[in-house]
Amino acid sequence: MSKTGMSKGGLPDLPPLREVVARHGLSASKALGQNFLFDEQLLDRIAAIPGKLAGANVLEVGPGPGGLTRALLRAGANVTAIEMDKRCLPALAELGEAFPGQLKVIEGDALKVDPATLFDGPWHVVANLPYNVGTALFTGWLSGKDWPPAWQSLTLMFQLEVAERIVAGTDSDAFGRLAVLAQWRACPRIAMKVHRSAFTPPPKVMSAIVHVTPAAMPEGVVPRMLERVTEAAFGQRRKMLRQSLKGLPGALDALEKLGIDAQRRAETLTVADFVAIARVLSPPA
Ligand code: SAM
Repeated sequence: MSKTGMSKGGLPDLPPLREVVARHGLSASKALGQNFLFDEQLLDRIAAIPGKLAGANVLEVGPGPGGLTRALLRAGANVTAIEMDKRCLPALAELGEAFPGQLKVIEGDALKVDPATLFDGPWHVVANLPYNVGTALFTGWLSGKDWPPAWQSLTLMFQLEVAERIVAGTDSDAFGRLAVLAQWRACPRIAMKVHRSAFTPPPKVMSAIVHVTPAAMPEGVVPRMLERVTEAAFGQRRKMLRQSLKGLPGALDALEKLGIDAQRRAETLTVADFVAIARVLSPPA
């Protein structure tokens, strides 16, 4: 970083992101899913989505040259960032110097890091996720055995189509396993749509930021059973439940017990219906 002074607001004066990228030769790598955000106002708006972050722990996956990271640091967060691309580390080290004690960078693959080992207290996740690993990370955060989870909120960039699947309601083509997983014990919403032109380089499709907070976990449901029910039901989503669930022991009896017509198709059920089926099939605690 060229010398950083302090602005009037007491925050470090940082060089423009494009300058940082040019100086460190951070040409975007397609293989690493790199689409950078440089608009600082947009980045500040994203960092504001989880609410006040002053003094809060934040996990950021894929900080890249540090655009979102600097917005989180400006908001007063203590950021732990996991980045796979070694080339970004010097730029992130400079950012850490500008915000002493607020930024910790871990070099590595976020899929292999257990975030529970990173923080003493609760944490938020805020990330412009690499699209190739975004869904895997998201489903991992939502599938934990312990609930409420250690994370307080997730604020994540997805392709718009994926974001729509996460928040989808019954009776839509987008409604499926991802919606049930995201909604049965959490509340997801699309907080902001982001035009492709906001990124460098622009991706082919539109993006959206999904904000998720944990909700109460329904009683008597084994998470793995809910996964098995949705896997079977949506695995053959065009078929009637009578057909798609027949390989799952007890499932057809559960439908009858609950008064759910076995001639219906998976996408006509509500999240509450799936929870009810899984509850009937879950062994007593
Ligand atoms: N946060 C930056 C921004 O908003 O401009 C960069 C976002 S870019 C879409 C995704 C970032 O994730 C890249 O910096 C990429 O190197 C990093 N990345 C890709 N796969 C990763 C993984 N498995 N673990 C950690 N970081 C990864």
